[in-house]
Amino acid sequence: MEISKPQIGVLAVQGAFIEHERILKSLGAEVFEIRQLRDLDRHLDGLVLPGGESTVQGKLLHDLGLFEPLKNLIEKGLPTFGTCAGLILLANKLSNDSHTYFGALPATVERNAYGRQLGSFYAEENFEGIGKVPMTFIRAPLIQSASEGVQVLATVNDQIVAIRYKNQLAISFHPELNEDLRVHRYFLEMISHFY
Ligand code: GLN
Repeated sequence: MEISKPQIGVLAVQGAFIEHERILKSLGAEVFEIRQLRDLDRHLDGLVLPGGESTVQGKLLHDLGLFEPLKNLIEKGLPTFGTCAGLILLANKLSNDSHTYFGALPATVERNAYGRQLGSFYAEENFEGIGKVPMTFIRAPLIQSASEGVQVLATVNDQIVAIRYKNQLAISFHPELNEDLRVHRYFLEMISHFY
């Protein structure tokens, strides 16, 4: 079933959430911010976990009582799109951090993998099913390995930067920072196939 106007909740406790909202709205989605528990009373067709600082986001999620409800929704199959820190929140193993957060994505992720000097960079590489897309990396995590059943959607210099697993789309770069709507459109199409 096609949803004519998908309702997307964007986690808005910290980080680059406004940019996601702007793009999703321009693609015709109804977008609302998730800042506190009662924001989850609304119907959700999809969830966006933005970039930012995963440690801060993780702490706020617990403090605000959002962690368990969101974890349940993701585990139950809510289409979820994590970028950068959002990818870190989804991964079930962090190679250089003792924490894990939602742990729903069977992949090993290294935080701040590109070091301080190379913290930010830009690339244009192929994204499965889309073509070449702009990729802005900011103190980005690296997807070191992904389990069987995880589809690799993009690589840069042979390193994995975008994956999909069941209801989850996870990307180490920031598609919301370039004027290119195709990765978000990919997520909306993914949602429409879920219902
Ligand atoms: N370095 C951040 C972290 O570890 C992620 C960076 C980002 O989201 N741009 O959470």
